[in-house]
Amino acid sequence: MDMLVVISSEAPKKRKIYHKMGCIYAERIKFQNRLEIKVEQAEKEGYCECKYCAGLRGDVRTHKAQILSWTHKKEMEFKFDDHTETLYIKTKIGFWKIYLKDDIDKYLLYHRNTFDANTDYQELIRGEFHRQKDVKQTDSLVKLVEYIDAHDKAKVVIQDDYHNLPRRTKKQKKYYKQAERKVKREAVKRMDTLFAMLERQNPSLKNVSIYERSSVC
Ligand SMILES: [Zn+2]
Repeated sequence: MDMLVVISSEAPKKRKIYHKMGCIYAERIKFQNRLEIKVEQAEKEGYCECKYCAGLRGDVRTHKAQILSWTHKKEMEFKFDDHTETLYIKTKIGFWKIYLKDDIDKYLLYHRNTFDANTDYQELIRGEFHRQKDVKQTDSLVKLVEYIDAHDKAKVVIQDDYHNLPRRTKKQKKYYKQAERKVKREAVKRMDTLFAMLERQNPSLKNVSIYERSSVC
């Protein structure tokens, strides 16, 4: 990955620290000393991460303005849990959590299995989640929030009619196919349930369907 960080080219040996863009401490570096380099490069040169802007907690700090804007524009609710260092995101139709996997230094995104807007917040947190597998491991909080937004928008379209999903990019085509398969699977399930119900109400129907099936063979 090539995340850019900010360093001071004049930092004394004991204070070689790198910052994320937007960190208040990065803004204190004199303009003429300020350098933007890749994080790997900074570490190679002996710079350590800033305690204020490091990790998910630091990302939440450096993205305050952005989070406020997402809250209004995308109607999302953000909550960072200090104890577990987990960021919870509630949208109109879903509940998500993000945390930093330390050994790979990347964020993982989890999606709550079920969602009901009336569920109490503590209960939402305690529920079961699954890893959102089609999301690449990333160190970008922005990418994850954009993914959540796109995912939930697509879900609303699917609930209405999946045919309206965009099909321009390769990824969009893939999601379209996925939605199509899901709708077809559900249609088969619905037919089975319907037949089972009809057969319960009218046992003589069973003979018809068995007859139909054997006549096909
Ligand atoms: Zn910093």
